[in-house]
Amino acid sequence: MADDSPADRPTTATPAPTDGAAATRTNGTAAANKVDVPRGVWLQCPACQATVFQKALEENMHVCPECGYHHRIAARVRIAQLVDPDSFEEFLPDLTSTDPLKFKERLTYKERIREVQAKTGEAEAVVVGKAFIRGRPVILAAMDPFLIMASKGAVVGEKITAGLERATDENIPFVVVTASGGARMQEGMISLVQMAKTSSAVARLDDAGGLYIVVMTDPTTAGVAASFASLGDIHLAEPGAMIGFAGPRVIENTIRAKLPEGFQSAEFALQHGFVDRIVHRHNLRTEIARIIDYAGK
Ligand SMILES: [Zn+2]
Repeated sequence: MADDSPADRPTTATPAPTDGAAATRTNGTAAANKVDVPRGVWLQCPACQATVFQKALEENMHVCPECGYHHRIAARVRIAQLVDPDSFEEFLPDLTSTDPLKFKERLTYKERIREVQAKTGEAEAVVVGKAFIRGRPVILAAMDPFLIMASKGAVVGEKITAGLERATDENIPFVVVTASGGARMQEGMISLVQMAKTSSAVARLDDAGGLYIVVMTDPTTAGVAASFASLGDIHLAEPGAMIGFAGPRVIENTIRAKLPEGFQSAEFALQHGFVDRIVHRHNLRTEIARIIDYAGK
């Protein structure tokens, strides 16, 4: 469901890559193209329409300085924001998708993977490793919404599972930052079984008395929302993140009813008990460290 993602919101700003190639990572959204300035220098906030200096946005952790809109960010930007400097030790960095179904759309799946790898610089849609957050050791997994909407194929399932197993073995917390359009449709059934695989690994961590913290970011939907993203001991969410299973239009068409205001927002999920706390991006690091201490881990 990656390609008909329920996230209706335009994908915006890109994380600034460290190699200075900001322009190449800036998505050419319709909104961004309307701004008559060099791309990669200014961009238009999709929430408040303000024209924001890219650098000011980066310095504000990719949160709109005008309205607080939390832009989607790449996995490495997320990791840099959360962990103690130079503490991240990645594992399974080279694991990449195979093409079990020999899937072909506009491009073959293999071509598509190569294309998004070149564009994002990532091998797959999740980056996993061991790190320290304010001095506390954790296994951290961050999903990358810029790689096929961080859809969950065999590699994403394997890396999340490996992270959970490592956290279980080392008796340290597992923290996942979710952002996903759901299943990797190009992998069909193999994508779907990752729900059971990751859920079993969460259960083993739980049996061992481990701590599992989920940070839901925009969007956390479909097969990811229905598996490891919903199984944390603590669920945090960023303000305004879309959280849900099927997209609102799909639900409205199916049940032929109007959905409540704000349905599938982090705020709605908080109100209905699905999310424990909404945390501004500026406070996430501290909040995660506090929860680890609170849980005695
Ligand atoms: Zn804004």
